[in-house]
Amino acid sequence: MSELALLGGKPVRENLFPAYKVIGAEEKEAVSAVVETGILSRYIGAEHPDFMGGPEVNAFEKAWGEACGAKHTVALNSATSGLFAAAGAAGIGPGDEVIVSPYTMMASVTAAIVFNAVPVFADIDADTFCISAETIRPKITPRTKAIIVVHIFGQAADMDPIMDLAEEHGLVVIEDCAQCPFATYKGRPVGTLGHMGVFSLNYHKHIHTGEGGTVTTNDDTYAEKIRLIRNHAEAVVGRRGVVDIVNMIGFNFRMGEIEAAIGRCQITKGPDLIDQRQVNVTYLEERLAGVPGLTLPEIGEGNSHVYYIHALTYDAVLTDVPRAVFVEALKAELPPTELREGEGPLIGSGYVRPIYLEPMFQQKTAYGNLGCPFACPHYDGEPDYDKGLCPNVEQAHFETLVTHELMRPPMTESDLDDVCDAFHKVAEHFPALRDHAAKLEK
Ligand SMILES: *Cc1c(COP(=O)(O)O)cnc(C)c1O
Repeated sequence: MSELALLGGKPVRENLFPAYKVIGAEEKEAVSAVVETGILSRYIGAEHPDFMGGPEVNAFEKAWGEACGAKHTVALNSATSGLFAAAGAAGIGPGDEVIVSPYTMMASVTAAIVFNAVPVFADIDADTFCISAETIRPKITPRTKAIIVVHIFGQAADMDPIMDLAEEHGLVVIEDCAQCPFATYKGRPVGTLGHMGVFSLNYHKHIHTGEGGTVTTNDDTYAEKIRLIRNHAEAVVGRRGVVDIVNMIGFNFRMGEIEAAIGRCQITKGPDLIDQRQVNVTYLEERLAGVPGLTLPEIGEGNSHVYYIHALTYDAVLTDVPRAVFVEALKAELPPTELREGEGPLIGSGYVRPIYLEPMFQQKTAYGNLGCPFACPHYDGEPDYDKGLCPNVEQAHFETLVTHELMRPPMTESDLDDVCDAFHKVAEHFPALRDHAAKLEK
């Protein structure tokens, strides 16, 4: 048993892991074809047939809708834009509260802020890392307008009870599906479980167009509003005869023809790329099951997990080795991944800091310097953003969650063996790590 790399020994592996590179010859050809036409985007921000974008955008939207089982898909330049457009379509405004997870990428939360509404954070469920009906219910007030549910790490939140609760209180539900494209919940595709679903096509996601996003919905009215917000709504609603002009402040959230052409190729690659992640996780989990102090993620019955992140729970009380030391020891055994060398080995402690601890919430400052939306005269609530607000989030983030992305194709069984060997090697050296941690404390 060789010494830990952290303590000067030889690492399990030094040569880089293979890049997750999903762009190839098909995309190159599709991009060339668009470039040949000379029309890289076809939108007109006025009442006109081209208000809906060009042929590639329209074909991409059709293909995405078919892949996700949604009646409508609107393509946008990011999921952030998609979240903003969905929040606008939901009619969110000053005085409203939006219930959301604090364990997510910031845009899930700023979607409420941009329409001058106040985010209210519900705790996550310790098993799925998503908010649940149980944690949402006590946060509902007469001011609640919508719920933004984030299917974090690649598995859907428990949506049926959330939709029952939303119906009971007349709330709009937006699913943030950025991390779980093509996943299913009880056999049904995400993105159509709530009223609107938002997907990301940024470089880090399962499939990508560089930057990009989509919103899916089965509701004709929401689809129309999202299309308006995407493309200068205020300039269009008059001639289009739109009666309900609430939040019809248009942005330029348009996706170009090149991204749409790439997106169509990516849709066809998606299922296989996801399948490979699942196969790799199954292989990893068979070997990681025996690592002391480590608990593997749970998958709800009938769900498919698409593993944006493989979320492990680490018990430092049991091992008597602090999580930070455990993760540092692991990282020392393994190399970075090609194309993301600068990030080091793709293993981490926790995910993002609970959002309510960020300055916007601690200082309650967003729009202007009058404290809007938190101190907006139309708002009569008092949002709580104190440390301790969401115990499960804080426990996961500060104590127990260990994440990695080493399940991404084209990792081979031999690559995955190196990952598992590193975990086992570190676990076999827990006594040495206890001594190391004790020295660090001094
Ligand atoms: C990536 C991500 C987003 C934002 O996606 P962009 O396309 O970069 O705007 C939103 N929510 C979650 C959960 C994400 O992971």
